[in-house]
Amino acid sequence: MKYCPKCKSADIHPYLPGFFNMYECKKCGYIGLLVIEKLNKK
Ligand SMILES: [Zn+2]
Repeated sequence: MKYCPKCKSADIHPYLPGFFNMYECKKCGYIGLLVIEKLNKK
């Protein structure tokens, strides 16, 4: 899972095809390289 660093929303998606390192948050409009990745390992 990836989370927005601004609003902590999981509603974050790759910004553009090809720009796989950039993400856009659909909730707050954040666009950037930095996302929070959370691993669901037990
Ligand atoms: Zn956000």
